[in-house]
Amino acid sequence: MRTTGDDNVEFELSGDRAAILETADRFARKELAPLFSRMDAEEWWPEDVMRKIGAAGLIGVAVENSLGGAGLDFFCQGLVIQAIARHNSSVGLSYATHENLFVNNLYRNGTPAQQEKYLPHCIRGEMIGALGMTEPGAGSDAIGSMATVARREGDHYILDGRKLFITNGPIADVMIIYAKTAKELGAKGVSAFLVEKGFPGFSVAQTLSKMGNRGSPTGELVFERCRVPVENLLGQENKGIAIMMSGLDLERAIVGAHTLGIAERALELAVEYAKSRVQFGKPIASFQMVQGMLADMYVAVESMRRMVYYTLARCNGMREGEGGRGEIHKLTAATVLLCGRSLMEVCDNALQIHGGMGYMWEMEVNRLYRAAKIFEIGAGTNEIRRLIIAGELLS
Ligand SMILES: Cc1cc2nc3c(=O)[nH]c(=O)nc-3n(C[C@H](O)[C@H](O)[C@H](O)COP(=O)(O)OP(=O)(O)OC[C@H]3O[C@@H](n4cnc5c(N)ncnc54)[C@H](O)[C@@H]3O)c2cc1C
Repeated sequence: MRTTGDDNVEFELSGDRAAILETADRFARKELAPLFSRMDAEEWWPEDVMRKIGAAGLIGVAVENSLGGAGLDFFCQGLVIQAIARHNSSVGLSYATHENLFVNNLYRNGTPAQQEKYLPHCIRGEMIGALGMTEPGAGSDAIGSMATVARREGDHYILDGRKLFITNGPIADVMIIYAKTAKELGAKGVSAFLVEKGFPGFSVAQTLSKMGNRGSPTGELVFERCRVPVENLLGQENKGIAIMMSGLDLERAIVGAHTLGIAERALELAVEYAKSRVQFGKPIASFQMVQGMLADMYVAVESMRRMVYYTLARCNGMREGEGGRGEIHKLTAATVLLCGRSLMEVCDNALQIHGGMGYMWEMEVNRLYRAAKIFEIGAGTNEIRRLIIAGELLS
């Protein structure tokens, strides 16, 4: 049974979709690939990179032209992320957070005034966005254990709490932050806020050092009597759960696209290495066990591609109130579960084909291997994804 989506499921891309993937790939190969090694080695975020992506017209992919967007659709947003992830997974993580978790979320849920205030700057890459849901004590149980609270005082909300593992947190200009406005109502007492980095009471407690995607800054954020004007409430008070749950479904489809890009690149690297590395007087590609690994990688990549494109198409035009339950909730969880696991398998095989060289920190395949693990953890862990799927099957 289908509840949403378009019928334009293309497994072989054509027209606008093929063009946007090609355009984004060309840009990422030229502008982003050369940055990847240093970003990983030095945990470096190149300050002008989001502006460059904006100048290339690759932010606000699904946002209407009048707000500065490209006026395309969610499927195309996924294709841009796939292309960027092929060449620089760190930029991919920060870009996907900015483009999907912030820009797309604000476009779907913001008032015209909120959109006009932030979207044009974000789409030009002059402002960077983030989203804060996770807390030190609230990971998989993000809603039940959420301790960040917001109280109305006159024409402001006062936020108190902490957010952990926030992608772009240390570099963000504006963030969507979830907080409880009515603790006694549980999930029905959560609201979303647009918080600027300059609001009094906001600070970045620390930038975290990671095993992979090290160029994408991740941080812990603190809110101490942080004053947020009432006009920065996103959606209605106590209705943040709908924003969160539909946003998570879309995020899972987007994470799938990210993993596909990395997996494609890992396969490409493995084929190149297998053809060029000689042992026993022959390229290692001539050994059937190496061929077997390449074949397994191909099967994984093509399975991911079909699942990701199908799911992006199903998410296209997802209406307000949809998501967070039903078919789309199950499908997006299944997509990210399949993609996370498949990416681990692909990167493991790719590294194995590189032998000892693959174990070297500075090798690109090593960077991809280290980048891959987050996709079994973020946007709901593998276990949570399986709980969602089983829950829907049994409902
Ligand atoms: C690099 C990085 C970037 C991130 N970016 C963001 C971001 O931008 N914004 C944001 O809000 N969050 C972000 N996160 C947080 C991420 O979404 C969480 O890490 C994730 O949801 C898991 O929460 P946790 O780490 O607290 O793990 P826990 O919830 O503590 O889980 C630990 C283990 O217990 C298992 N587990 C927990 N509950 C159950 C259960 N009911 N049944 C079975 N197993 C269970 C989990 O699957 C996991 O294996 C990021 C995390 C990382 C590492």
